[in-house]
Amino acid sequence: MPFNIDWRSIDDVLLDMDGTLLDLHYDATFWLNNVHSIVANLTGEPEHAIQERFHRELKKHEGTLAWYCTDYWADFFGIDLIEAKQQLAHLIRFRPHAEQFLQALNSLPLRTLIATNAHPDVIQLKLNVVPLADMVDGIVSSHQYGVAKEHPDFWRALFDEYAINPDRALFMDDSPKVLDAADRAGVREVVEIRHPNLSEPPRTTWRQGIDDFDVLFPGLEAFGRP
Ligand SMILES: [Mg+2]
Repeated sequence: MPFNIDWRSIDDVLLDMDGTLLDLHYDATFWLNNVHSIVANLTGEPEHAIQERFHRELKKHEGTLAWYCTDYWADFFGIDLIEAKQQLAHLIRFRPHAEQFLQALNSLPLRTLIATNAHPDVIQLKLNVVPLADMVDGIVSSHQYGVAKEHPDFWRALFDEYAINPDRALFMDDSPKVLDAADRAGVREVVEIRHPNLSEPPRTTWRQGIDDFDVLFPGLEAFGRP
Protein backbone atom coordinates (compact mmCIF):
# COMPACT_ATOMS: atom_id res chain seq x y z
CA MET A 1 0.00 0.00 0.00
CA PRO A 2 1.53 3.38 -0.98
CA PHE A 3 2.28 5.63 1.94
CA ASN A 4 0.53 8.97 1.77
CA ILE A 5 0.70 12.03 3.99
CA ASP A 6 -1.51 15.05 3.33
CA TRP A 7 1.20 17.69 3.87
CA ARG A 8 -1.36 20.51 3.67
CA SER A 9 -2.76 19.28 6.98
CA ILE A 10 0.65 19.50 8.71
CA ASP A 11 2.37 22.50 10.37
CA ASP A 12 4.94 20.76 12.56
CA VAL A 13 7.21 17.84 11.73
CA LEU A 14 8.54 16.25 14.91
CA LEU A 15 11.45 13.86 14.45
CA ASP A 16 13.27 11.47 16.71
CA MET A 17 17.06 11.54 16.37
CA ASP A 18 18.64 8.11 16.99
CA GLY A 19 17.25 5.40 14.72
CA THR A 20 15.19 7.97 12.79
CA LEU A 21 17.53 10.64 11.39
CA LEU A 22 20.71 8.84 12.49
CA ASP A 23 21.76 5.21 12.16
CA LEU A 24 20.96 3.33 15.38
CA HIS A 25 23.97 1.09 14.74
CA TYR A 26 26.13 3.56 16.69
CA ASP A 27 23.97 3.41 19.84
CA ALA A 28 23.30 -0.33 19.52
CA THR A 29 27.00 -1.08 19.13
CA PHE A 30 27.89 1.03 22.14
CA TRP A 31 25.17 -0.16 24.53
CA LEU A 32 24.86 -3.80 23.44
CA ASN A 33 28.46 -4.67 22.60
CA ASN A 34 31.07 -2.14 23.58
CA VAL A 35 30.05 -0.54 26.84
CA HIS A 36 31.11 -3.55 28.92
CA SER A 37 34.61 -3.82 27.44
CA ILE A 38 35.11 -0.05 27.48
CA VAL A 39 34.09 0.08 31.17
CA ALA A 40 36.26 -2.98 31.94
CA ASN A 41 39.24 -1.25 30.35
CA LEU A 42 38.63 1.95 32.26
CA THR A 43 37.81 0.48 35.69
CA GLY A 44 39.36 -3.02 35.76
CA GLU A 45 35.99 -4.59 36.75
CA PRO A 46 35.52 -8.00 34.98
CA GLU A 47 33.46 -7.67 31.79
CA HIS A 48 30.91 -10.40 32.70
CA ALA A 49 30.24 -8.74 36.07
CA ILE A 50 29.63 -5.39 34.37
CA GLN A 51 27.33 -7.04 31.85
CA GLU A 52 25.18 -8.70 34.55
CA ARG A 53 25.05 -5.56 36.71
CA PHE A 54 24.14 -3.42 33.69
CA HIS A 55 21.31 -5.62 32.42
CA ARG A 56 19.75 -5.90 35.88
CA GLU A 57 19.81 -2.13 36.25
CA LEU A 58 18.59 -1.48 32.71
CA LYS A 59 15.45 -3.57 33.27
CA LYS A 60 14.45 -1.39 36.22
CA HIS A 61 14.48 1.81 34.18
CA GLU A 62 12.93 0.92 30.82
CA GLY A 63 10.84 3.76 29.39
CA THR A 64 12.05 6.27 31.97
CA LEU A 65 14.48 9.14 31.71
CA ALA A 66 17.18 7.29 33.69
CA TRP A 67 17.36 4.70 30.89
CA TYR A 68 18.45 7.50 28.54
CA CYS A 69 20.49 9.53 31.02
CA THR A 70 24.25 9.57 30.51
CA ASP A 71 24.75 11.16 33.95
CA TYR A 72 22.93 8.21 35.51
CA TRP A 73 25.02 5.60 33.68
CA ALA A 74 28.24 7.54 34.18
CA ASP A 75 27.57 7.32 37.95
CA PHE A 76 26.56 3.67 37.67
CA PHE A 77 29.74 2.66 35.81
CA GLY A 78 32.01 5.19 37.48
CA ILE A 79 33.36 6.47 34.17
CA ASP A 80 33.15 9.50 31.88
CA LEU A 81 30.47 8.11 29.57
CA ILE A 82 30.78 10.81 26.94
CA GLU A 83 34.49 10.09 26.64
CA ALA A 84 33.63 6.39 26.27
CA LYS A 85 31.00 7.13 23.61
CA GLN A 86 33.51 9.31 21.80
CA GLN A 87 35.56 6.17 21.09
CA LEU A 88 32.89 5.02 18.61
CA ALA A 89 32.06 8.45 17.17
CA HIS A 90 33.17 7.29 13.70
CA LEU A 91 29.94 5.20 13.60
CA ILE A 92 27.67 8.27 13.89
CA ARG A 93 26.01 8.88 10.53
CA PHE A 94 22.75 9.86 8.85
CA ARG A 95 20.24 7.26 7.73
CA PRO A 96 19.73 7.14 3.94
CA HIS A 97 18.00 10.25 2.54
CA ALA A 98 17.71 11.85 6.01
CA GLU A 99 19.66 14.93 4.87
CA GLN A 100 17.61 15.27 1.66
CA PHE A 101 14.42 14.87 3.69
CA LEU A 102 15.43 17.68 6.07
CA GLN A 103 16.43 19.89 3.13
CA ALA A 104 13.07 19.26 1.46
CA LEU A 105 11.21 20.15 4.70
CA ASN A 106 13.31 23.29 5.03
CA SER A 107 12.10 24.67 1.73
CA LEU A 108 8.44 24.22 2.72
CA PRO A 109 6.17 26.13 5.13
CA LEU A 110 6.68 23.54 7.86
CA ARG A 111 8.47 23.76 11.20
CA THR A 112 10.85 20.89 11.88
CA LEU A 113 11.79 19.97 15.44
CA ILE A 114 13.89 17.10 16.74
CA ALA A 115 12.26 15.50 19.79
CA THR A 116 14.67 13.06 21.39
CA ASN A 117 15.18 11.10 24.59
CA ALA A 118 18.93 11.56 24.17
CA HIS A 119 20.74 13.42 26.96
CA PRO A 120 21.92 16.92 25.95
CA ASP A 121 25.56 15.76 26.24
CA VAL A 122 24.88 12.95 23.74
CA ILE A 123 23.06 15.37 21.42
CA GLN A 124 26.16 17.58 21.46
CA LEU A 125 28.43 14.60 20.79
CA LYS A 126 26.38 13.82 17.68
CA LEU A 127 26.15 17.45 16.55
CA ASN A 128 29.95 17.49 16.52
CA VAL A 129 29.79 14.82 13.79
CA VAL A 130 26.58 15.56 11.84
CA PRO A 131 25.36 19.12 11.09
CA LEU A 132 21.83 18.49 12.39
CA ALA A 133 21.43 21.75 14.30
CA ASP A 134 21.59 23.85 11.12
CA MET A 135 19.02 21.66 9.38
CA VAL A 136 16.09 21.94 11.82
CA ASP A 137 14.19 24.70 13.64
CA GLY A 138 14.90 23.33 17.10
CA ILE A 139 16.10 20.37 19.15
CA VAL A 140 14.21 19.26 22.25
CA SER A 141 15.59 16.73 24.72
CA SER A 142 13.06 15.07 27.01
CA HIS A 143 15.60 15.73 29.78
CA GLN A 144 14.50 19.40 29.58
CA TYR A 145 11.00 18.37 30.69
CA GLY A 146 12.06 15.73 33.22
CA VAL A 147 10.03 12.93 31.58
CA ALA A 148 10.75 10.59 28.67
CA LYS A 149 8.78 10.66 25.40
CA GLU A 150 6.98 7.52 26.57
CA HIS A 151 5.16 9.70 29.17
CA PRO A 152 2.10 11.88 28.36
CA ASP A 153 3.63 14.85 30.24
CA PHE A 154 6.42 15.05 27.67
CA TRP A 155 3.88 15.76 24.93
CA ARG A 156 1.95 18.31 26.99
CA ALA A 157 5.18 20.20 27.71
CA LEU A 158 6.33 20.04 24.06
CA PHE A 159 2.99 21.24 22.64
CA ASP A 160 2.89 24.00 25.23
CA GLU A 161 6.45 25.28 24.76
CA TYR A 162 6.26 25.35 20.96
CA ALA A 163 2.53 26.17 20.60
CA ILE A 164 2.05 22.97 18.58
CA ASN A 165 -1.41 21.89 17.50
CA PRO A 166 -1.07 18.07 17.65
CA ASP A 167 -3.87 17.73 15.12
CA ARG A 168 -1.57 19.48 12.62
CA ALA A 169 1.62 17.61 13.56
CA LEU A 170 3.50 14.62 12.21
CA PHE A 171 5.86 12.51 14.33
CA MET A 172 8.41 9.91 13.31
CA ASP A 173 10.26 7.54 15.64
CA ASP A 174 11.63 3.99 15.69
CA SER A 175 10.29 3.05 19.15
CA PRO A 176 6.79 1.51 19.28
CA LYS A 177 6.25 2.69 22.89
CA VAL A 178 7.08 6.26 21.91
CA LEU A 179 4.87 6.02 18.80
CA ASP A 180 2.02 4.85 21.05
CA ALA A 181 2.60 7.81 23.38
CA ALA A 182 2.52 10.30 20.48
CA ASP A 183 -0.62 8.66 19.15
CA ARG A 184 -2.32 8.90 22.56
CA ALA A 185 -1.24 12.56 22.78
CA GLY A 186 -3.30 13.24 19.65
CA VAL A 187 -0.55 13.65 17.03
CA ARG A 188 -2.25 13.54 13.63
CA GLU A 189 0.26 11.44 11.68
CA VAL A 190 2.45 8.98 13.59
CA VAL A 191 5.00 7.17 11.45
CA GLU A 192 7.35 4.37 12.39
CA ILE A 193 10.88 4.27 10.99
CA ARG A 194 11.21 0.58 10.16
CA HIS A 195 14.91 0.47 9.33
CA PRO A 196 16.51 2.22 12.31
CA ASN A 197 19.71 0.15 12.39
CA LEU A 198 21.37 -0.01 8.97
CA SER A 199 23.35 -3.09 10.03
CA GLU A 200 20.14 -5.04 10.60
CA PRO A 201 17.20 -5.82 8.31
CA PRO A 202 14.09 -3.58 8.45
CA ARG A 203 11.33 -4.65 10.85
CA THR A 204 7.70 -3.64 11.47
CA THR A 205 6.36 -3.06 14.98
CA TRP A 206 3.74 -0.38 14.38
CA ARG A 207 0.69 0.04 12.15
CA GLN A 208 2.02 2.83 9.90
CA GLY A 209 5.63 3.28 8.84
CA ILE A 210 8.39 3.60 6.26
CA ASP A 211 11.79 1.99 5.68
CA ASP A 212 13.30 5.02 3.94
CA PHE A 213 12.47 8.74 3.69
CA ASP A 214 12.66 8.62 -0.10
CA VAL A 215 9.07 7.32 -0.37
CA LEU A 216 7.93 10.72 0.99
CA PHE A 217 9.71 12.79 -1.67
CA PRO A 218 7.02 12.70 -4.40
CA GLY A 219 4.38 13.91 -1.92
CA LEU A 220 6.66 16.67 -0.60
CA GLU A 221 7.49 17.80 -4.14
CA ALA A 222 3.82 17.95 -5.04
CA PHE A 223 3.11 19.96 -1.87
CA GLY A 224 5.90 22.43 -2.73
CA ARG A 225 4.69 23.01 -6.26
CA PRO A 226 2.90 26.39 -6.69
MG1 LIG B 1 15.00 6.41 18.30
